[in-house]
Amino acid sequence: MNIHEYQAKQLLARFGVAVPRGGVAYTPAEAVTVAEGLGGPVWVVKAQIHAGGRGKAGGVKVVRSLEEVREAAKRLIGMTLKTHQTGPEGREVKRVYIEEGCDIARELYLGMLIDRGQGRVTVMASTEGGMEIERVAATHPDRIVRESVDPTVGLAAFQARKLAFALGLEGKQVSAAVRFLIAMYAAFVELDASIVEINPLVVTAAGAVVALDAKMGFDDNALFRHKDVEEMRDEDEEDPAELEASRNELNYIKLDGNIGCMVNGAGLAMATMDIIKLHGGAPANFLDVGGGATKERVTAAFKIILSDANVEGILVNIFGGIMRCDVIAEGVVAAAREVSLNVPLVVRLEGTNVELGKKILRESGLRIIPADGLAEAAHKIVGAVKEAA
Ligand code: GDP
Ligand code: MN
Repeated sequence: MNIHEYQAKQLLARFGVAVPRGGVAYTPAEAVTVAEGLGGPVWVVKAQIHAGGRGKAGGVKVVRSLEEVREAAKRLIGMTLKTHQTGPEGREVKRVYIEEGCDIARELYLGMLIDRGQGRVTVMASTEGGMEIERVAATHPDRIVRESVDPTVGLAAFQARKLAFALGLEGKQVSAAVRFLIAMYAAFVELDASIVEINPLVVTAAGAVVALDAKMGFDDNALFRHKDVEEMRDEDEEDPAELEASRNELNYIKLDGNIGCMVNGAGLAMATMDIIKLHGGAPANFLDVGGGATKERVTAAFKIILSDANVEGILVNIFGGIMRCDVIAEGVVAAAREVSLNVPLVVRLEGTNVELGKKILRESGLRIIPADGLAEAAHKIVGAVKEAA
């Protein structure tokens, strides 16, 4: 799950990370009230969407009067902002963040993420702040320094100092950066973040080290431990199908192909996608219905798969272990009826009560194409979709 910049700043501030003062607003009038509370003479009005690149796209306005605050908020709220991260359809701005202006001397970059290869949190720092880090990595990889954190020790002061020196900081800025980094690492670990990115981290003219932008992403599987973070979820920013899936405890990821997949177990789902490809097809999604594939969840899964206009056929591949095949078959039949399925459906069942399951499918009167084995299932759905086209 991702959150907005202003929410990330709120969370980080709680851990002692230095951020400018600011407040969120949903209307121009609220924006003015927030700005009055902050006092001037300079404010920054920033569009809040879950995408970077707002600055270049006109989503960040530096203003010098309350009237300009109102105008900037009026222009931004309701606007569809297109940045290199939103895709061509853009994102509608529904809230803005009003911050005290900041006198920038230098723009730097700080990022923390999980390096799965090492099984550790890696801190990345670069003097090239305000630019996309991917671009810096491609053109000037030498300008990114990394520190890998031993999880039993945490980010050590000497590592934070090393990073601060690599950023070219001096004097008091070094100790400010060390405090910043250690607080940021504490927030990362305690909140079960998967990424925290500060781009830019700025050194102000007065020598303070402040997070001018903040991005945080969290491990969904740990959200139950952080109700306050979970409350920050902005459903407007999420893919509607993926949102509906998470409500039904389904793991769904939309892909570009035309064959919808409904599978139990992530490993089997991956194998199913692979074998569809092997047979010349393209999966429309990854969907793991999990261990308890009840009728309700199977129905929800069908609806989600069919909400994708690209889907021209569905492959159900379910292994009945704890869940019996007859129960799954009943679920598939009921769901297919409820959604009045009009694309080819191939079902491959295996496991407990498989014969009974197949009988239920056969006697349903629905045009369900049965398959034995993964290869046959893939072959049949790819063929059925080609034929229907
Ligand atoms: P992003 O483009 O979505 O990553 O949004 P950022 O929050 O990083 O803002 C983009 C740019 O706006 C920053 O790199 C700064 O150059 C500029 N900016 C943001 N806040 C301020 C501010 O308080 N004062 C000034 N002068 N510039 C700012
Ligand atoms: Mn930024």
